Order: sequence, then C-alpha cells, then structure tokens
Amino acid sequence: VVVGAGLTGLLTATRLVEEGVDTIVVERHGIGGVTTRGSTGKLTALQGGRYSTITQHRDPAAAATYATATQRGVDGLRSLIGALRINCAFTPAADHTFAVTPDGLTRCQAEFDAATEAGLPVTWVDDPRLPIPTLGAVRLDDQAHLDPGALCAGLAERLGQRIIERCAVLDVTEHVDRVEIAVDDGTTITANHAVIATLGPIHDPAFLSTRCSPKRSYAVACPHPDPPVGMYISLDDDARSVRPATIRDQSAIIVAGEGHTVGEPGDHSGAERWDRLDAYAQALGAGPSLHRWVAHDLVPSDGIPFIGSAAPGRERTWIATGFQKWGVSTAMIAADLLTDQILETTSPTAALFDPGRIADSVTVELAKDAARAVRHTVIEPIKDALTRTPTGPRCTHLGCVVAYDESERTWECPCHGSRFATDGTVVNGPATRPLDLPDTPR
Ligand SMILES: Cc1cc2nc3c(=O)[nH]c(=O)nc-3n(C[C@H](O)[C@H](O)[C@H](O)COP(=O)(O)OP(=O)(O)OC[C@H]3O[C@@H](n4cnc5c(N)ncnc54)[C@H](O)[C@@H]3O)c2cc1C
Repeated sequence: VVVGAGLTGLLTATRLVEEGVDTIVVERHGIGGVTTRGSTGKLTALQGGRYSTITQHRDPAAAATYATATQRGVDGLRSLIGALRINCAFTPAADHTFAVTPDGLTRCQAEFDAATEAGLPVTWVDDPRLPIPTLGAVRLDDQAHLDPGALCAGLAERLGQRIIERCAVLDVTEHVDRVEIAVDDGTTITANHAVIATLGPIHDPAFLSTRCSPKRSYAVACPHPDPPVGMYISLDDDARSVRPATIRDQSAIIVAGEGHTVGEPGDHSGAERWDRLDAYAQALGAGPSLHRWVAHDLVPSDGIPFIGSAAPGRERTWIATGFQKWGVSTAMIAADLLTDQILETTSPTAALFDPGRIADSVTVELAKDAARAVRHTVIEPIKDALTRTPTGPRCTHLGCVVAYDESERTWECPCHGSRFATDGTVVNGPATRPLDLPDTPR
C-alpha cells in the first residue's frame, strides 16, 4: 500500500506495478498531492544552493553521490514521461542559480564550486539572460519544466482502479509478517509493505518530522508576452524562482519566493507577499497575476531527503519525505530506491538517503528547530497562562500551539507543518486527527 497520491506516491506505485508488485494507493484528498500541485514544476539536478548546503553538513562524497542520484532521477522521469506518453507540458530548458546582490553572488560562486566538485556538468555564466541586472549564475543545461498536476493525472490514469481517493490513513502498524493500515472508514488494510509518501510523515517512528523545518512559499502566475526561456532561482536573501509557463493558452511566467516557516509569517501578510512577487514579475516584463497560491514542504536538517526504511529495524514500512522544495526533481529517486528496497535489491545510494542517519541530522538547523518546537509547545502556553491570554488550539500531532492563517484560512503548526481547515479537519500531516476546536467556528 502506498499512502499519498502526490508525485512521490504515484511514481513509487508506478515503479512497483512495473516490477509486478500488486499495489494500491490510498489518498486523503485527490490525485496530485497537496504540495505537488502547488510546485513550480522544475525538473532539475541543480536545485538552487543544494550542493553547498550538503557540503556544509556532509563530506564532498555525499554531494557527489547526491549529484549522481539526482541526475539519474531527472533522466529516469524524463524517460518515463516519454515511455508512457504523458502530456504534461514537458519542456527542455537550462536551469540557472543566479544572484542580484553581492551576498547572493558569493553563495552562487560557492554553489558553482560545490556542484563542480560533485561532478555536475555546470558552467558559469556572467549574463543569465534575465531582463533585470544580475551578477552571474551557475547554469545546468538539458533540464526541464513541466505541469506537475498533468504529470500526476497521467500517472493516475495508468494506475486506474488501484487508487482509492478520499480515504485517509490514521495509523500504520508493522508486524513480523505484515503491515496493518488503519483508514478513516474504520477498516484495516493488510499488506506486505506500506510506503508513506504523505509529505509530512503520518507514521514517523524515526521522528523525521522533528528533523525537518516546515516551510511555506508563495507563488504567482502572470501573463508575459515574451518570458525568459530558462529556469531561474536566486540565492539572494529575498530568493526568487522564475520559469516560463502557459496559463489558459496565454504565455506567462511563474514567480515564487517569500518563504518562511509554516505558522510564522513574520511582518508581512500573505497579500503583501504576493504583491511583492507581482512587482518582481512586472520588473521582468509581466502583467498583474492571474493566479496566486502557496505551497509547503519540509526542509531536512542536513539538506538530504529521507528515503528508505521508516526506522532502523523496520522491514515493511518505507518512507520518503524532506524534499526541501525539490521533490518534483527527486521523487523519482524515491520511487526507484523504495522499489529496490521492497524487492530487496541493494542500491549504492541507499545509505545517503537512509532515514536512520541520526548523527548526520544533528546540525545547527536541528537545534534551532528543536528550540522553536519547545517555544511553541511549552514556553508560549506558559506565557499565555501567566497573562491569562487564551492559548490557541493544540496540534494533534505533538501538541504545539497552532496559528490561524488569514490568507489561507487554515490553522498551521509551526513545529512540524501540519495544517488544518477552519473546521479543524486535516489539510496535511504529519497530523492525522482533526483539531479539537472550541464550539464557535471562526
Ligand atoms: C512553492 C514550492 C515550489 C516548488 N517547486 C518545485 C520545483 O519547481 N521543482 C521541484 O523539484 N520541486 C518543487 N517543490 C517541491 C515539490 O513540490 C515537493 O517536494 C513534492 O511535490 C512533494 O511531493 P509528495 O508527493 O511527497 O507530496 P504531496 O504532493 O504533498 O503529496 C502527499 C499526498 O499525501 C496525502 N496524504 C497526506 N496524509 C495522508 C493520510 N493520512 N492518508 C492518505 N493520504 C494522505 C496528501 O493528501 C497528498 O496528496 C516546490 C515546493 C514548494 C513549496
């Protein structure tokens, strides 16, 4: 049983079925995932500042293994889309990690060095061909952008009756000879293996959610008569992601950025953040936005996704999470690795992604996240009690106080990223149970 019909779950199910494994996909909402449908759909092995992030925490060999795995993942997804003839606006394009500020330039140069050392065939370009002043960019040719919703729809069409929508998994229990998956209609599914592909890990024996930061980003799609043909992401403090697109048969660009921790929006409202992205798009020659949205992902403390056995000793429960806003590009790694592991085939890259790598996860980022969780779980409720301020509802995952987000009309957990609708029902995990709200709805 694969839990989750986002790109990770659908690709894993596709690979398992290809290998002859009898597979079903169980999905809380609908096909296309929560985050997948909100992604900017770049398929690239470059991935912003990925290689310098990895080398900050791990040795250069880890970055090299990552580069090999992710290039194979990008090529594998390209081949799969071709073989299955999925119509998902797949468009080859060069990807660029660029800078407009001196700090961003320093980071780009470090990224160029780290990516080169990792064996990625990057080049340095002084002019990345954006219609704004830039200071230079790392470039990787032969990458692509696509429509992630259409990709999921194409995969789902081929999986057909194997997908069960509007069915939420509440619990997963591994036994010696089977896995039991409890779902919200009161039934239990018994399987040989369970794959948790739910973005926020709804079954988490290795505490992966506490080893990641939950992040939100904002995006706008704006009409543009002549958008830049490449894909771009900046490493400046105000990071921006740009790619061309076609929206309702209109030539357009998508601009994303304004990232912050889930539930901690800072000094700017959602509307202000979208306006800033609109202003940036207009500086690139675009018109006012046609669409505005947000999307969420988990950023692992050592910069490498968690893919593999759900915890040491687990042989039937598998997980893929912590994609650091690059899961469209790395979901194929998860699909291949998990399929190999379920079929008991050894893979040279398995150790790098192993969720059991506790020591590698102990980084400054992990300490900051732990401190944030303590603040939202313990310190703020005590402060509220002392000042007789009513404390907000508690997340049903690990008890953090959730914050209400006006722009999305959701309750958001700043510790591990669970999100709930106004009536308390789960939008996405790791939580599986609804919020306990006061009687009066907001
Ligand atoms: C703003 C933004 C832009 C991005 N752009 C890019 C990009 O350009 N390129 C790139 O490579 N990556 C990008 N990403 C990252 C990428 O979108 C994600 O990493 C990827 O989509 C994760 O896919 P997923 O299938 O793991 O999760 P999801 O798409 O969220 O799917 C998880 C599924 O599990 C289901 N689920 C959850 N709980 C349960 C339960 N209890 N029972 C049953 N089902 C459940 C959910 O309903 C959901 O459908 C971006 C991310 C963000 C935030």
